[in-house]
Amino acid sequence: CGIVGIVGKEPVAERLVDALRRLEYRGYDSAGVATIHDGVLKRRRAEGKLFNLEKKLASEPLAGNIGIAHTRWATHGIPNETNAHPHFVDGVAVVHNGIIENFSELKDELSADGATFETQTDTEVVAQLLARSRRAGMGRREAMLAMLKQVTGAYALAVIFADDPSTIMAARSGPPLAIGYGRGETYLGSDAIALAPFTNEITYLVDGDWAVIGRDGAFIFDHDGNAVDRPRQITQAAA
Ligand code: GLU
Repeated sequence: CGIVGIVGKEPVAERLVDALRRLEYRGYDSAGVATIHDGVLKRRRAEGKLFNLEKKLASEPLAGNIGIAHTRWATHGIPNETNAHPHFVDGVAVVHNGIIENFSELKDELSADGATFETQTDTEVVAQLLARSRRAGMGRREAMLAMLKQVTGAYALAVIFADDPSTIMAARSGPPLAIGYGRGETYLGSDAIALAPFTNEITYLVDGDWAVIGRDGAFIFDHDGNAVDRPRQITQAAA
């Protein structure tokens, strides 16, 4: 339901949860945050209100200057901690807004190929597809493009890979997604309101776009992998 991400120069976990709070008005049943620290993906997830996630983070803090976070409004799989995003498969972390329409065919195909699913969500197929491509030797961008060619439906996605602690990848087909530009930091949000405390300079992804987001900005590509130019705009969203 809500997505935020930061590729930063300072710890991100608390700021990600603060940004999620700005999306609370949209409704949700669980929430989670993932970061990369020392080359390892770590996450905290909790059913219910953001307060529950904050309590976990207070007792078990998450280090890391890059991360993604999510508030979930369950469509496939009950609202519980296991089904809460981010989903992890072999060094890939994914958060998702929307519905992967062909998840059941993909799940059958991946299972037949040896994948073990941890959740009941439609979203997990995205992480499984990316992980399989990486195991097969594909680069991160190549794996992202291959995954986007396989999934159908409505999605805003944010992905981090344990082996690249300086990049968030994102994709949009339906639900909105905006990149925000800071000083030595770049942000991602499903809503400009989530990004308002960080920056007012943003770019909205267009349907079919995907992006490679680093500390110094972003490269945006279309569904065929061609680089595209999207305008930067100044938002009026109040911080
Ligand atoms: N379909 C996904 C799920 O049920 C994402 C739902 C959402 O947009 O929060 O986990």
